[in-house]
Amino acid sequence: MQKYVRPTTIEEAVSTFNQAHGKAVLLAGGTDLLPRWSKGVQKRPESLIDLKGIETLKGISHENGRVRVGACTPMTEIASDPVIRSMGSVLAQAAGRIACPQVRNRATIGGNLCNASPAADTALPLILLDAVVELVSSNGNGMTTRHAPITDFFRGPGSTLLGPGEMLACIRFEPLPDGGFAAWDKFGTRPSMEIAVASVGVALTIESGTVTRARIGYGSVAPVPLRGTEAEAELVGKSLSEKVIARCEAAARKEITPITDVRAGEGYRREVVGVMLRRMLEHAASGG
Ligand SMILES: Cc1cc2nc3c(=O)[nH]c(=O)nc-3n(C[C@H](O)[C@H](O)[C@H](O)COP(=O)(O)OP(=O)(O)OC[C@H]3O[C@@H](n4cnc5c(N)ncnc54)[C@H](O)[C@@H]3O)c2cc1C
Repeated sequence: MQKYVRPTTIEEAVSTFNQAHGKAVLLAGGTDLLPRWSKGVQKRPESLIDLKGIETLKGISHENGRVRVGACTPMTEIASDPVIRSMGSVLAQAAGRIACPQVRNRATIGGNLCNASPAADTALPLILLDAVVELVSSNGNGMTTRHAPITDFFRGPGSTLLGPGEMLACIRFEPLPDGGFAAWDKFGTRPSMEIAVASVGVALTIESGTVTRARIGYGSVAPVPLRGTEAEAELVGKSLSEKVIARCEAAARKEITPITDVRAGEGYRREVVGVMLRRMLEHAASGG
């Protein structure tokens, strides 16, 4: 019979996870895990560590100028939270577009990131926000904590920086600068219950008509949620003229590496990314 434990503290969770020596799986909302088990894509583990009883893994706070989002915070809360809506609006938007209300009530941000799908909707906004993940593990005597930028967290489809026995505790980011421009959107064949064919996000700081900070990100068009460093370089230090926008779009089409799958062709995804990015930049150029 499957063993089920429901720790109430992070320390208890990592200690149990460490002692399971790879035979336990962490359970958050279960919206990725349960369909995989019921379809037989993944074998049910010997034991389950349910994280939902750990209060310190839940909720959103604003401390020392940084926003903290607990790994077990559900999408519904992220989408409607006033701190996230004002300081990381792109994250609220993305969380509010995942699946449907029932799934959003269960699905957590930690599960979304640790599942490491290239289409994970909350990953791209966190790239725009320069977010940092906090990873915790047990060394046998106590708890060890390390931090990593979100761009280092994803290693490939289904693969992350998490080591054996390690779990994600929270995500932190600084608010987007006042007066900046930020946009995020995903494209699919229907408006909800849709894994993105492609997604694009932009966060810009524009001072006296010149872009001084640019973050661009893409989803579903590379093995990992991707930061668009080549496209960003086309914007920094420049004004958003037609020519600059066209160069940025060309760089974006070049730096993504989409594949053809059941949802869309490789060329179609490149086209979608180019058009979405151009529209966002034109909107920013017209005053947002
Ligand atoms: C019908 C349907 C529609 C969906 N639509 C979308 C969509 O539009 N966009 C989208 O991005 N996703 C979508 N998903 C996928 C899923 O809902 C999300 O990825 C969700 O956020 C996963 O969170 P969870 O809490 O349910 O994760 P779980 O299923 O509990 O866990 C997922 C993985 O993460 C690990 N994990 C969970 N928490 C932690 C932690 N704190 N530390 C370390 N590892 C952890 C688990 O062990 C597991 O491997 C959809 C799923 C369904 C069933």
